Amino acid sequence: MSMILVLFGPPGSGKGTQSQFLVDDYGFIHISTGNLLRDEIKKGTSLGNEVKNTIDSGKFVSNEMIIDLVKSVISENADKNLIFDGFPRNVDQAHKFDAILTQLQKKVDLVLDFVVDFDKLKDRIVGRYTCSNCGAVYNDSLKKPQNEGVCDVCSGTVFERRKDDDLDVLKERISVYKNETEALKELYGKTGLLRQIDASEELNVVKSKVNNCLRTEGFI
Ligand code: AMP
Repeated sequence: MSMILVLFGPPGSGKGTQSQFLVDDYGFIHISTGNLLRDEIKKGTSLGNEVKNTIDSGKFVSNEMIIDLVKSVISENADKNLIFDGFPRNVDQAHKFDAILTQLQKKVDLVLDFVVDFDKLKDRIVGRYTCSNCGAVYNDSLKKPQNEGVCDVCSGTVFERRKDDDLDVLKERISVYKNETEALKELYGKTGLLRQIDASEELNVVKSKVNNCLRTEGFI
């Protein structure tokens, strides 16, 4: 039986990084609605053009667009263990997600709440950049590649920065998170599926916490 895991937490809490560990170590499929939208922008599709300004400003794109994206990606990966990162992001999306999963005789199995001090997010996000080839994440002050300008993972030499990883846009993203996304804690808390992960520590420490939690729940 395939598993549906939701990672939930503010921008910069490490959801993408920890998802990548679960992909590498346990074969999960990582579904990041943010990545899916950025792919559409890169490809220059009409959806990409439509959402570009919204994403750059740190606001949410419409629930309808997100739900359409999620529907198609779930149907392409029906039998796999899935990690949702950045979705659902408000109560309406969570209800629609449940409806989609119920139709497929699936359900959300576990929600990990990545708890991190809001003060730390600024350091993690402002200065973040990724390898354009493999997506490995670096940071101007926290984690440079061992050889400046060369990716540790794939030796790529081209890097990119997200336009929304800027201090003013980050403030907007955090405010949207507080206003819309934090309500999911209560929703998922009531279902008994929510587990808190202290995500303020170094990434390997967080990784073992995530693994311990999934092991305790019998998912790995
Ligand atoms: P992320 O990569 O998760 O930080 O998402 C980047 C941006 O994509 C967000 O700031 C939103 O503009 C948009 N986005 C991603 N996922 C969602 C979602 N579930 N609902 C609404 N907007 C989203």
